[in-house]
Amino acid sequence: MNPITFYSTNLKTPGVYFREALLKGLAGDKGLFMPEQIPTFTKDEIAAFSSKPYFEIAFEVLHRFLVGEIDPEVLYALCKDAYNFEVPLEPVTASQFIMRLDQGPTASFKDFAARMMGRLMNHYLKQDQRKLLILTATSGDTGSAIANAFYGLDSIQVLVLFPEGEVTNRQRKQMTTLGKNVKTIELKGKFDDCQALVKEAFSDPELNYLDLSSANSINIGRLVPQIVYYFYSFSRLRKGQPDDSIIFSVPSGNFGDMMGGVLALKMGLPVRKFVIATNDNDEFTTFWQDGTYSKIEPSRNCLSSAMNVGHPSNLARLVALYGGVMDEKGNIHQQPDMELMRKEIFASSVSDAETRETIIATWKQHQVMLEPHGSVGWKGLMNYLNEHPEDAHQLCVSLETAHPAKFPEEILKLLQIDPELPESLKGIEHLPESFDKLNNDYQAFKQYLTTNYH
Ligand SMILES: *Cc1c(COP(=O)(O)O)cnc(C)c1O
Repeated sequence: MNPITFYSTNLKTPGVYFREALLKGLAGDKGLFMPEQIPTFTKDEIAAFSSKPYFEIAFEVLHRFLVGEIDPEVLYALCKDAYNFEVPLEPVTASQFIMRLDQGPTASFKDFAARMMGRLMNHYLKQDQRKLLILTATSGDTGSAIANAFYGLDSIQVLVLFPEGEVTNRQRKQMTTLGKNVKTIELKGKFDDCQALVKEAFSDPELNYLDLSSANSINIGRLVPQIVYYFYSFSRLRKGQPDDSIIFSVPSGNFGDMMGGVLALKMGLPVRKFVIATNDNDEFTTFWQDGTYSKIEPSRNCLSSAMNVGHPSNLARLVALYGGVMDEKGNIHQQPDMELMRKEIFASSVSDAETRETIIATWKQHQVMLEPHGSVGWKGLMNYLNEHPEDAHQLCVSLETAHPAKFPEEILKLLQIDPELPESLKGIEHLPESFDKLNNDYQAFKQYLTTNYH
């Protein structure tokens, strides 16, 4: 079998193999890499996942995309090393579950992608005796997951930009207390400004010498690992009937998580519906309803802060998957198949007030504790089921993308409970922090790069 090639969503550069797509991050024409061919699993192969541990399902999924690009034994070992934590499926009702993706080292679902990507990059860089500078913009959780996933790797330097006042103390400390190969910048601006600076640096020919790479959700190396937990949860909850199917609800910001799910569907997972749940940044919900897209600038500040995204960068991928073309600015050059998209996807936006009410109601009714992002997902699912009472008894999984203890003030206010920290987050309170501060100005940022990295 030939290796899978990855094309750019802007369609202006030739396709590349996985290794190159992973190390480059963004395509030369500023598009995002997407698999030219999507591998599939048969029903029997999917049924066999039920007896495999998480890391082996990860191996099966990744191997399909990396055939000919990595020794299967090496990949197997990387998966085993990356996925050494639990993935709980907490029942809410007889058919509805919360998938807790918050048991990794930074208690965020981003650990799943970042740990795998770090290991794959390190593998290829060591082979080539190369070094990279990872430049990443974060609205909170990406940065700490990336910093922790790459911490201590000697072929890789990490520089994280985060927006002033938009990340929680604990999120910041998870990035700024590491040191070694990890540097952080607090930008006087918003998340979208951080992302814009990073994008400009990538396309600046004078910075070519830095060998920049991105670890944002735009990297294909993050997308592929995010396919795995959709297969995993189905493997654990399926009844074994021929017509088994599942509904997922995904709290979404940059749409990387959701893209993993939609790719799982295209690989053969029997998904009845994806609920894409956003906060008041509802540009996708509008697009899904009427087919016209306009980004929200500046993005709206909501409680589920990691989802405050006015223009999801992975949207270009979703549009591509449904046969359309969207450029990096959000202009649509070819309209996707909206009818098919509406058949497979339901979009719902949830306000901060609803987010809070849902946290309270879910706790009171079911003793299930959600944090703001997971609450948006759960409320989105409830909105879907309200409109589709025929699906009331369908198997549903709503993703919880962070641990409630990452939002202690909010949870305390709403539930009068101080959620206990997971082991991985204990102890950072007292470590010394170190980070630099910059204005939202590209020249200043460029100066910083050339001064700090030679
Ligand atoms: C990043 C993040 C999201 C959004 O994920 P996307 O892949 O950007 O859509 C949701 N919840 C939490 C806690 C996050 O950190």
